[in-house]
Amino acid sequence: MRYLIIGGGIAGTTAAEVLRKSDASAEITIVDEEQHPLYSRVLLGHYLKGKVSRERVFLKPATWYQEHNIEWLPGVVAEQLDTRNKFVRISDQRELPYDKLLIASGTVPRPLEVDLRGVSYLRTIDDADHLLQLLSERGMDARMGIYGSGFIACEYLELFREMNLPITLAYRGDKFWSRALLPEAGELVNKVLVDGGVELHTRAELKDLIGEKELTGFVTPKGTHEVTLLGVGVGVIPDFSWLRDAGVELGSGVKTNQFLETNVPDVYAAGDVAEFEDVVLGRQLVLMNWQNAMSQGRHVARVMAGERVAFELVSSYSINIFGLECIFVGDTELAEADNVHLIGSLESGGITQVFERSERVVGGVMLNRNSDRVLITKAIKNKQPFSELTFVTE
Ligand SMILES: Cc1cc2nc3c(=O)[nH]c(=O)nc-3n(C[C@H](O)[C@H](O)[C@H](O)COP(=O)(O)OP(=O)(O)OC[C@H]3O[C@@H](n4cnc5c(N)ncnc54)[C@H](O)[C@@H]3O)c2cc1C
Repeated sequence: MRYLIIGGGIAGTTAAEVLRKSDASAEITIVDEEQHPLYSRVLLGHYLKGKVSRERVFLKPATWYQEHNIEWLPGVVAEQLDTRNKFVRISDQRELPYDKLLIASGTVPRPLEVDLRGVSYLRTIDDADHLLQLLSERGMDARMGIYGSGFIACEYLELFREMNLPITLAYRGDKFWSRALLPEAGELVNKVLVDGGVELHTRAELKDLIGEKELTGFVTPKGTHEVTLLGVGVGVIPDFSWLRDAGVELGSGVKTNQFLETNVPDVYAAGDVAEFEDVVLGRQLVLMNWQNAMSQGRHVARVMAGERVAFELVSSYSINIFGLECIFVGDTELAEADNVHLIGSLESGGITQVFERSERVVGGVMLNRNSDRVLITKAIKNKQPFSELTFVTE
């Protein structure tokens, strides 16, 4: 059996590891655009802050692949998928045949239309190294800008705050995580930011960057903001260029059923790139978190090896903004919920949102209310209505 895996992140590498355990003689190949063996994107923020060494960010040594008889092709890009003749053409022009193919190619940051030196994106360890280089060049006179209002913006906030650097934050909407937070929860996050000394500009879409070669500022309808470094976190997108004309159904991600099988036989998808049918949440969606990507990698390998079981997991993402603990569990899209119930308040400094659809809890956001996490996770798993839950209120 020839297994071909496109993407050597946590989803693709975990799948390879499980496939190897289940079949000692299979041919397994991982094609990855990056030059590095598997590392933790979750640890990149800690590495940037100097809390974790660069070495510790890596989860596998480069020797691991050979030791497990896995062909590892780093620094190579899949350029075309031919599902009829079952091969993938890669950037060195080779055609790699497969019996079973896993698409685990993740996403890339949505880029700004303009670019200058001093603009930073954060997805890879190379991006992190580039950011460290910029920070050392800018020195202690640096003025930091952040554009965006999601998880990557939080990584920048935490880093710049740790370095005691002045921060200007701008974003297009009027609140952080605009697709998930109710106005009151958004206000709580904004308050934490402003109390933390951030110069915050809401409804401030980026219009332009200023500078010759090096960035000196950026422009929004609120004015010109002088910064020497701009961290950009305006969402991510999958790169489908190599899947064009392959016949694989695409939506927000590569579409799969509950088994992580695509519409094309012997082609599977897992991790951030997969838009899968979530049997727990009861809809087709993309979930972008480490736990989901690792679990899907593990699961899809079992399915590829012949054990056809539906993928089931209630996954979560936790992050801190200046001491405000933010936890997202399950489906937290406002637009997909019938009801969103709010517990706690701005005044108390803690808010939980419970997302309900078809009279069952499907998701939760907890801001400084970690204690609700277990209750909500259980309710999602057990398909309970909100009315059955009892929350502690102050
Ligand atoms: C800075 C940062 C911090 C994060 N922190 C957290 C956190 O605290 N908690 C959490 O749950 N999640 C966090 N995440 C998200 C988490 O890291 C992702 O959900 C997870 O890494 C997704 O894994 P994946 O294997 O699906 O995709 P990826 O990790 O994106 O791996 C996909 C790989 O495929 C390669 N690739 C893409 N296209 C091609 C191609 N055509 N040919 C060859 N190779 C290709 C890419 O280069 C990449 O190496 C964070 C992400 C980032 C960037």
